[in-house]
Amino acid sequence: MSTAVNRYIIIGIILGIILGGLLGSLLGERMMWAGFLGKLFLNALRMIVIPLIVTSMITGVISLGDVRRLGRTGAKTLLFYLTTTAISVAIGIILVNLIQPGVGSESGAAAGNEIAKRAGEYSIFDVILGMVPPNIIKAMSETKVLPLILFSLIFGGIVTTMGEKGKPLKEFFESANGAIMKFVHVIMLVAPFGVFGLIAGRFAEAGGVAFADELMKLGKYFITVLIGLTIHAVIVLPAILKILGKKPVRKYAANMVQALATAFSTASSSATLPVTMECVEENNRVNHKASSFVLPLGATINMDGTALYEAVAAIFIAQLYGIDLTVGQQIIIFFTANLAAIGAAGIPEAGLVTMVMVLESVGLPIEGIASILAVDWFLDRFRTTVNVWGDSVGAAVIARTKEIRNA
Ligand code: ASP
Repeated sequence: MSTAVNRYIIIGIILGIILGGLLGSLLGERMMWAGFLGKLFLNALRMIVIPLIVTSMITGVISLGDVRRLGRTGAKTLLFYLTTTAISVAIGIILVNLIQPGVGSESGAAAGNEIAKRAGEYSIFDVILGMVPPNIIKAMSETKVLPLILFSLIFGGIVTTMGEKGKPLKEFFESANGAIMKFVHVIMLVAPFGVFGLIAGRFAEAGGVAFADELMKLGKYFITVLIGLTIHAVIVLPAILKILGKKPVRKYAANMVQALATAFSTASSSATLPVTMECVEENNRVNHKASSFVLPLGATINMDGTALYEAVAAIFIAQLYGIDLTVGQQIIIFFTANLAAIGAAGIPEAGLVTMVMVLESVGLPIEGIASILAVDWFLDRFRTTVNVWGDSVGAAVIARTKEIRNA
């Protein structure tokens, strides 16, 4: 896209967020109509996520050219994601112990059981079975991303072994991927209006004064999560980007603004994926061979912001209930917060549901979730932004590995 168009989109999105927030909180119900604009934009993004994942991953794997190279790159990607998520959880645990936001606050009502029920739907066997669904078209229609990633990886790998016979498929998917990326450009032209609609509609629903009240009550908890997210996003990830990804941090971040603002507005890493890909590949010129599978995988399993929030929220709930957690219990929270973030889908407030697992692991009351419910939709936007930023840094780092550079 030309620089002028890019600038229009960036300024438009930022204005959309500010105006949406202001008008939504000030005019309340009278701004509910804006939610329609937001939904339209969100649907448009979600509409292209599946074709994007499939075409992008298949072309990425084919361009790597060798299944062994894919294995090594995949292992490095997973290692990167696990390490950065663990650092993020550690920051959260240290902060919540230092600030102690739950000590001396009152706990909320009991509505957590509903969420516990939703979380109870997933067992480990369901997760594994879900990776190999009996019907791939149905999985697509339900936006189940992990089985699609697996399918595309294997499919792409097989095409690389087919020599001449695989060529038409390679060309087809490359061409389709190019077309889908152009589709993203078109959707981004209306992004400022979509973002405005999403934010205005959601703030209108929350009701300005009522929400401000809730936010005040949970202020210390909210700020603890925000400080943690800021340390991770502004210090840890940039250091990694500079040292391992060898990228100029400010420029890289500035080129990501569209994706970060979309993450904030949609609260969904999956819905933001098309924009993340566009910013990483086209603005930051990261090799498609890396971004093509690092990003879809990241949008599904790499959630630094969510992991940090899970740990802080669980320990905050313990503090609210006056439960003293031992070091051993905090270590268990460390591990389960990592898992809960990996298990959370890239959709709004998924982290709230998987948190049941963290609470249960150390016997904390699940009803405690009710006390953080009121501000969760808002906090979700910040953690989703950090999730997407973490994926983008991952793409730059993996693009520097020798497997990608020599491919
Ligand atoms: N909304 C987050 C995401 O899509 C997940 C969560 O933390 O709820 O990345």
